[in-house]
Amino acid sequence: MKGRMATGSRQKAEGDGRGQMAEGVDASRCKDIAELASAVKACRACPLSLTRKNAVPGEGGGRRGIVFVGEAPGAKEDAQGRPFVGQAGKILNGLLRKNGMLREEVFITNVVKCRPPGNRPPRPAEVEACRPYIQRQLELLGPAVVCPMGNSATRALLDPKADITDMHGRTVEKDMRRFMPLYHPAAILYNRKLMKEMEKDFEELGRLVEG
Ligand code: URA
Ligand code: SF4
Repeated sequence: MKGRMATGSRQKAEGDGRGQMAEGVDASRCKDIAELASAVKACRACPLSLTRKNAVPGEGGGRRGIVFVGEAPGAKEDAQGRPFVGQAGKILNGLLRKNGMLREEVFITNVVKCRPPGNRPPRPAEVEACRPYIQRQLELLGPAVVCPMGNSATRALLDPKADITDMHGRTVEKDMRRFMPLYHPAAILYNRKLMKEMEKDFEELGRLVEG
């Protein structure tokens, strides 16, 4: 007990004294999406900042009123500083196009903005450290619908016990916001049978933002 307290206060003192680590993120001060992107690129609030090449804030526009949210950047995304530019991105672009939407008309981002080494899943502490950014992005964009893609994003944004197999393609309201969870486009790379379901979900999504 004594030892733990001593360690805790020493870490705190070091953190305060040298100002080098993990002040929590204050994204509420970001006035717009561009300012938030700059904050993300400079962010050192969690250890993923030590191994990333480029932080990936997200990109796109608000014209369609949809925000797509993946898990975290992969290798290509890390190299380019842009979300969904690899194989999964090709699938996402194709689904958008098929439903009359352009990538530039939707906003695409991830729960965690920096690549976890070796593409391991982000740790809960990393998700929590990064959470103020996605929260502020949703506040600033005010989308008609938020689409977390895959289990990881759906659990982070909606419900830690969520299962995408049950929830995909259905709308859910939470904190005055509307969500439609979708399969992760990478899941389709591994299981082509999911494509049919994903196409149906995208049609439904298209109806939702038009109607
Ligand atoms: N997978 C994700 O979850 N996000 C990306 O940006 C790319 C692949
Ligand atoms: Fe900051 Fe998020 Fe990157 Fe961690 S993952 S360093 S919290 S932007």
